[in-house]
Amino acid sequence: MRYSLFSLARNALTGHRDWQPAWRDAEPKASYDIVVIGGGHGLATAYYLAEKYGLSNIAVLEKGYIGSGNIGRNTTIVRSNYLLPGNIPFYELSMKLWEGLEQDLNYNVMVSQRGVLNVFHSDAQRDAYARRGNAMRLHGVDAELLDREGVKKLYPFLNFDNARFPIQGGLLQPRGGTVRHDAVAWGYARAASDRGVDICQNCEVTGFRIENGQAVGVETNKGFIGAKKVAVSVAGNSSRVMGMAGLRLPIEAHVIQAMVTEGLKPIIPGVITFGAGHFYISQSDKGGLVFGGDLDGYNSYAQRGNLPVIEDVCEGGMALMPSIGRARVLRHWGGLLDMSMDGSPIIDKTPVGGIFLNCGWNYGGFKATPASGLCFAHLVATGEPHPVATAFRLDRFATGNLIDEKGQGAQPNLH
Ligand SMILES: Cc1cc2nc3c(=O)[nH]c(=O)nc-3n(C[C@H](O)[C@H](O)[C@H](O)COP(=O)(O)OP(=O)(O)OC[C@H]3O[C@@H](n4cnc5c(N)ncnc54)[C@H](O)[C@@H]3O)c2cc1C
Repeated sequence: MRYSLFSLARNALTGHRDWQPAWRDAEPKASYDIVVIGGGHGLATAYYLAEKYGLSNIAVLEKGYIGSGNIGRNTTIVRSNYLLPGNIPFYELSMKLWEGLEQDLNYNVMVSQRGVLNVFHSDAQRDAYARRGNAMRLHGVDAELLDREGVKKLYPFLNFDNARFPIQGGLLQPRGGTVRHDAVAWGYARAASDRGVDICQNCEVTGFRIENGQAVGVETNKGFIGAKKVAVSVAGNSSRVMGMAGLRLPIEAHVIQAMVTEGLKPIIPGVITFGAGHFYISQSDKGGLVFGGDLDGYNSYAQRGNLPVIEDVCEGGMALMPSIGRARVLRHWGGLLDMSMDGSPIIDKTPVGGIFLNCGWNYGGFKATPASGLCFAHLVATGEPHPVATAFRLDRFATGNLIDEKGQGAQPNLH
């Protein structure tokens, strides 16, 4: 069923009783040409495999329900304000895909290009942001360096004269913004299912069957599923899942938390990140202030957070915008991140024939969803890396060709 004004009117007249489920909830078949593990980027991958590369006989296996992973847990921010040549074209491709995604998927994912502002608090930080902005503009990405008055015009309620962290200005990407996260999962699931992809929920991969160095399928809680190719896209579970194929990854699992307040009248038109600590904030269309900050400081697969990080995030919020102290937090949650050692992703073949890997998204893989899906589909379909994802190689950690966007070295807790 295509969504349109016409279908809305027709269903309104029949009391909204005839809407169909957005996608088929399939039971897995005995075998597929391609099995994609993970219902986040994996949904986008399956969609592009079918839509762009004309492939069929594909399944997405998700151990929970669609949207239960990070794709439904993030703070919805999208941007392409990167510095390094390995990253900028990839994230800008993603931004361009976001800009046309609702038409491509025939689904309202609520793309809202409300602007992403990174504030700075010192001369050195201003120079670093100016450099980043110049690198973006050289790649055709929008960037504006604002002085203190420019930031004040946008956000007069920030604490400009905080003695410790006075705001000197900010780097603005006007095309950055937010996208409704779970709608992205549902939109890709629906579009992939429409093109024949089987979406199998509550189907956990528990092992790989590998014969003579070549994957021939996966073991699951629903039995063995044969596959000519297996595409793994499981975020914080990457090390555990690839461990089942005998591979040790340069990835650590950390929890990151986010919080939302009660609904308030519109106050924050865009997205703001604090430059002197881990805190960022936007306002949802429902009115809740959505904010988050740093990782939990230890490795975990538990998908629940801790109080010290919440305290740290709230301290950042109070330093940047003291008025937030009056808002009441409604709920908070955690997601399991796949932290790579240089802060950049991996989209590559693995040493095991037929197994492909997509991981290392750190804090920021939601914004990458469309480009990640497209580039991973390209790799799985053609066996070659997509031109904008050639740097995301697994062996860069052995060869030293790191894409260290933040220049912080192999410290996942800093990315
Ligand atoms: C609190 C929070 C805030 C964030 N904020 C932002 C943000 O504002 N902007 C941004 O760009 N990014 C943000 N991120 C990061 C972003 O959400 C992730 O990087 C991105 O969603 C990762 O996509 P994915 O498809 O790899 O992971 P997921 O969406 O987690 O998908 C992986 C799926 O694999 C499934 N899986 C795992 N193991 C198995 C198995 N054995 N068998 C079958 N299925 C399995 C999981 O259940 C999961 O659904 C945030 C993350 C969190 C947690």
